[in-house]
Amino acid sequence: MSLEVIDRHREALFEFLWCPVCGHEIFSHIPFEGVFCKNCNTQVILRESREDRGYEEAVLACFDTDSTWNLHVDEKLRRDLPDGSARVKILGAPGAYKVDWWSPAPGDDWQPVERGEFDDVDEPADISHLA
Ligand SMILES: [Zn+2]
Repeated sequence: MSLEVIDRHREALFEFLWCPVCGHEIFSHIPFEGVFCKNCNTQVILRESREDRGYEEAVLACFDTDSTWNLHVDEKLRRDLPDGSARVKILGAPGAYKVDWWSPAPGDDWQPVERGEFDDVDEPADISHLA
């Protein structure tokens, strides 16, 4: 399987994608720099997969935190990627994308953060206040 880097910003795809580190779904496109999670700065690189199995599009989204970590995001509001990177394969067409697989495979050691998973997490001070 050969891959080609897609260097254009693909709007429909980024509407489907979310960040597996912090669960946010807003990405910033910085010309000549790349695409980054607006919340935690995880970098996203899209690669086209030739193995499309009949779907209109087959894309690998590669998330990388090695070079772009933003320590302002609290540990409770993020989950680090195993070895600093993870990939998700997406099949489908604009408006009808679905996740084919994650790599590494989600398991006991790591699960990608669900979309919006941390949205309801309050600051620790608020929680102790309730107790
Ligand atoms: Zn993020």
